Amino acid sequence: MAVHAHPDDESSKAAATLAKYAAEGHEVLVVTLTGGERGDILNPAMDRPGILENLPEVRRGEMAAAAEALGVQHMWLGFVDSGLPEGDPLPPLPDGCFALVPLEEATEPLVKAVREFKPHVIITYDENGGYPHPDHIKCHEVSVEAFEKAGDPEAFPDAGAPWTPLKLYYTHGFIRDRIYRFSEELEKAGMENPFREWLAKWKREQGDMMARVTTQVEASEYFQQRDDALRAHATQIDPNGFFFAVPLEWQQRLWPTEEFELAQTRVQTAIPENDLFAGIEEQ
Ligand SMILES: [Zn+2]
Repeated sequence: MAVHAHPDDESSKAAATLAKYAAEGHEVLVVTLTGGERGDILNPAMDRPGILENLPEVRRGEMAAAAEALGVQHMWLGFVDSGLPEGDPLPPLPDGCFALVPLEEATEPLVKAVREFKPHVIITYDENGGYPHPDHIKCHEVSVEAFEKAGDPEAFPDAGAPWTPLKLYYTHGFIRDRIYRFSEELEKAGMENPFREWLAKWKREQGDMMARVTTQVEASEYFQQRDDALRAHATQIDPNGFFFAVPLEWQQRLWPTEEFELAQTRVQTAIPENDLFAGIEEQ
């Protein structure tokens, strides 16, 4: 089970791993907490009449196409996108948005989903949300809470029979070394390099995310499916943007894995791992 804040996050974070496990016969479910109602249109080609006015509906269609591209199941939890507050001072969060829902209330439907789907592994974001969007941080909080409480018969008694998931992972996409290798290769080839500026202002503390990685899953065979899923989110993902700056074959050669941090485990496993299910079958 991969828990995500908005439709498109499942395609931009560890998507190839989901496609891989689904292809190998695992049951894979993406849970999307909000409807992405406050997303901007980030693809100039989609900035046309009828799209922004109907964004929630448009994004539902995009999400269904992305899930199909990845070969995974999908479930909406129905919370309302908080939007990314911008400005100085930051504006208050909008009434009723996901980030303002009290933790217990926000966690219950996820606990219910965990008890129904019975995942062995749950994937979410780290405590910083991967990037500081209030819905991403809240996604982390409810995922950790659900991982801890789903198996507790005293907790959320109205949300189904207890089920204890075994491993909790955080995805880590912003690996400096990965971006650096891509950047170098683009420079060598004399191609446009959208990462140059990004790397130049990369903060020190963001630089060592690799130090938190415990698990690298080789998923290069599924990068094409990941890209198809990304493109399905046509309002959110610019097909000429940085996601597609590096040719697929280069990515497969230079960085064929996706990165995870094993945050909690109830089975024995040896670090580093190359499989999210390591230790589970043994048990
Ligand atoms: Zn998001």
